[in-house]
Amino acid sequence: MIDIDRVVSLLEQEVRDYDVPVVDLIAAQIKDPFRILVATILSARTRDEVTAAASRRLFRKAATPDELATLSVPELEKIIYPVGFFRNKARYLAELPGVLRERFDGRVPDTVEQLVRLPGVGRKTANLVVAVAFNKPAICVDTHVHRIMNIWGYVETTTPLRTENALREKLPEKYWKRINSILVAFGQGTCKPVRPLCDRCVLADLCPRIGVTPRRVPGRTAAAAGAGNNTGVRKLVSWNVNGLRAALKKGFLDAFHELDADVFALQEIKAMPEQLPDEVLNIDGYHAYWHPAVKKGYAGTAVFYRVEPLQVYYGLDNPEFDREGRVLTLEFSDCFLVNAYFPNAQHGLRRLDFKLAFNRELLASLERLAKEKSVILCGDLNVAHKPIDLANPGANEKNPGYSAGERAWMDELVHSAGFVDAFRKFNQKPDQYTWWSYRFNARAKNIGWRIDYFLVDPASDGRIKGAEIHPGITGSDHCPVSLLWK
Ligand code: SF4
Repeated sequence: MIDIDRVVSLLEQEVRDYDVPVVDLIAAQIKDPFRILVATILSARTRDEVTAAASRRLFRKAATPDELATLSVPELEKIIYPVGFFRNKARYLAELPGVLRERFDGRVPDTVEQLVRLPGVGRKTANLVVAVAFNKPAICVDTHVHRIMNIWGYVETTTPLRTENALREKLPEKYWKRINSILVAFGQGTCKPVRPLCDRCVLADLCPRIGVTPRRVPGRTAAAAGAGNNTGVRKLVSWNVNGLRAALKKGFLDAFHELDADVFALQEIKAMPEQLPDEVLNIDGYHAYWHPAVKKGYAGTAVFYRVEPLQVYYGLDNPEFDREGRVLTLEFSDCFLVNAYFPNAQHGLRRLDFKLAFNRELLASLERLAKEKSVILCGDLNVAHKPIDLANPGANEKNPGYSAGERAWMDELVHSAGFVDAFRKFNQKPDQYTWWSYRFNARAKNIGWRIDYFLVDPASDGRIKGAEIHPGITGSDHCPVSLLWK
């Protein structure tokens, strides 16, 4: 167990000359809870320099709730672009003055419980605002805090929320307000998400380096960097396992090793990581990110990877979808991998509106990401696109998974936005399915649906080197699909 007092004291000295995280910088300059709140909303999933510039532009036009209320959503989008999820954030900012007026007398509240009732404010933002704007004890758990606390073995958690809860129990309260600022600076400067600089780290003798692959230092031997092969082609697999605990009993690990992927994306895991055995939590040669649903035994996504991504993003920044653990995005140096488990429109299409709202937000996010670098969308989209993609199109035209609204959205994704359906790039044959009902012996008769996909942004079409369906791999009512990518 690390000595937290010693570690914090060393790091406070260490980060003195590092860049200050942008929200702390803004807080030091303006001391106004409203502007700190707005800057914190802008900062989520956005690089510090982009947040700083967008905040400056916005505050020139709107430094108070009343001024913000005069700006329309399109105006806000224009001002804050290119912050992450700028469309969602523009909408949240447009709603913010009204909500503050109606619920909080026009003032920014000073508790986490009240702040999370504001549009676009999750626990991380709320904790940060309480700590930075109101100088009250609160633990903000940025991805750096979550990651580094686990590297030290100070907590053993799988999500930032669990890290926050664990830290409430054991981190001395005197550190709550400053730990985020210290670890964000340290995580950006030394203990980086990829190849941390352990060779020059002030904690080198104290840190157990759990799960860490340090950078290679010129002139010294070090472990080979990452995996892959010398052709530069990587293999990605996506599989809706319909319950990872059940799949484990049906040969999941054999299939996992047989497929031998560089990245392995799962949907519908239906489990919290702590409910899973060590054999899947610690697969040799892989690490994993988990995004389980809040509701036990429901939905959820995970991604196993060999080469550490630069960043991981949980969800779509929309609590309605994110509580179901539906989207997990890994940012690599050359691409984003968006692993998504789309909602089912359900019997009688009673969840169609929810599904289409999810689809719209996801597509907006994909288009934004594609402006930065290649985007690979994989997962169970819960829709067959064309008649060729299901055994009985005529009988299913009004059913979930093939309703007009769902197909229209697929048209938008493929035809309007131009995303390339990797499997159809190589294979135009019928009877190629990825899901079969457990009823009526459907799999043996190949009465199925193709609802699991790899789709790639139009500019990256040339990077698709192959795509397959693996119907011979059982263990779920879906089979895996794969992509070769260069
Ligand atoms: S020794 Fe390495 S892993 Fe540990 S805190 Fe320092 S940089 Fe991070």
